[in-house]
Amino acid sequence: MADNAVIVGAGVIGLATAYRLARDGLAATVVDAADGESGASVHNAGWIVPIMSAPVPAPGMVGQALRWMARKDSPLHIRPTPRPEHVRFMASMLRYCRPGPFHHGVEALASLSERVVPLFDQYAADGVRFEYHRTGQLMAFRTLEAMRGYRAATAPLQRIGHPAVPLSGDELRDLEPALGRQVQAGLRCPQERHVDPVDLVRGLKDRCRELGVRFLENCEVTGVRLRGPAVAAVHAGGEEVGGDLFVLSAGVHTGRLARLAGCPLPVQPGKGYGFDDTGGTVALRHSVYLGEAKVAVSPLSDRLRFAGTMEFGSFDTAVDRRRLHGIVRSAQEFLPDFSPGAPPRGWTGLRPMTPDGLPVIGPLPGKDNVLVASGHCMLGVTLAPVTAEVVSAYVAGGRQLSEIAGTARPFAPQRFTSGRSAATRNLTASR
Ligand SMILES: Cc1cc2nc3c(=O)[nH]c(=O)nc-3n(C[C@H](O)[C@H](O)[C@H](O)COP(=O)(O)OP(=O)(O)OC[C@H]3O[C@@H](n4cnc5c(N)ncnc54)[C@H](O)[C@@H]3O)c2cc1C
Repeated sequence: MADNAVIVGAGVIGLATAYRLARDGLAATVVDAADGESGASVHNAGWIVPIMSAPVPAPGMVGQALRWMARKDSPLHIRPTPRPEHVRFMASMLRYCRPGPFHHGVEALASLSERVVPLFDQYAADGVRFEYHRTGQLMAFRTLEAMRGYRAATAPLQRIGHPAVPLSGDELRDLEPALGRQVQAGLRCPQERHVDPVDLVRGLKDRCRELGVRFLENCEVTGVRLRGPAVAAVHAGGEEVGGDLFVLSAGVHTGRLARLAGCPLPVQPGKGYGFDDTGGTVALRHSVYLGEAKVAVSPLSDRLRFAGTMEFGSFDTAVDRRRLHGIVRSAQEFLPDFSPGAPPRGWTGLRPMTPDGLPVIGPLPGKDNVLVASGHCMLGVTLAPVTAEVVSAYVAGGRQLSEIAGTARPFAPQRFTSGRSAATRNLTASR
């Protein structure tokens, strides 16, 4: 078993992993290119939503994207770009939009996300300090058909103890009076949670420090030193950082890092937008999903956070004001009293996307001591602690690994490659 882990990336996945490995007794070092909190892990809605554990590539997705192609404020956009990785990625994603792969993905994600809420409760109990809301989630739809379609697609998730109770428009307004009259139907999901994502990242980092985790910030990993079939060290910020285990959790840059280690992976950005409102024109108790608009609204202690939009094809983090305006307009359709005053200052986050919409967790093929923990698409916050558990099981091997082998199998990086690493062979043997 490894003693000394180097985790590349201090997003929510890298931090959850560092926390877990430190708890397991490993010496852990987290290396991050940024100076302080940044990236998708602080620019998201903060939802812990096993009920929404469905892959992005879904039947009807491509048709929807084509219909919205010309709209500059649409919730889903595929930017035409000649970058070969992007073209290959989109072509591959197309194959996963069929009902078979989609349902397989829902089942796989359901079994992974089953234990998520207790793990967040454990964080709180173990002294990770973060703003944690247990008020549940509402999903609001303008039509009954949209609500029924959504409910049917997520049926396997209700089976894992995450009910979605159908409500009429009036019943929804009883719970959230700010919802407008055009909301006709919805779902109440009492088991879902939400956090302040900035606070969660800080809380995890603080707890990691208390557990002795070392942080190297402002240190971009630009290369690796190999020793036979293993990585001996990464080059970061002008120094070599050595270890006997390396975890790649660098968000949208994980594919490039995996290439440095000899095995590229198809992780591409899915850009999202959001803004924080402190105007107080609307008050909510629950996190609310504005169904047809695909906008998430999270009531936090000091602000209301709005997030949405999925834009494929761009690594840049610039704010396109038309997309931001699309979120404001949708918010006003569902929450008629919402008035941001001045145009909000927006932010963006790059979701690490995979062609099949499933995370990549497990051994990097061809390398004996590299694990990948990335590609969490729209569910990185939700799946962070359970991802760390899977990483921990790979590190421990033996019984711990065989217990999670079935759950972990659909997420193995090996599905995107033809190579097999020693660790993957161990997993196969333990089934
Ligand atoms: C608008 C929006 C809303 C979302 N809402 C939700 C939600 O409600 N619930 C949910 O579960 N998920 C949500 N998500 C998805 C979630 O935010 C992501 O899946 C998650 O943050 C990914 O975390 P990560 O740690 O993999 O990546 P990141 O947060 O991107 O972190 C990666 C880190 O790696 C570092 N890095 C990159 N390259 C290098 C390198 N070469 N060397 C060193 N460091 C490097 C970066 O600096 C960064 O700190 C949302 C995303 C967006 C954009």
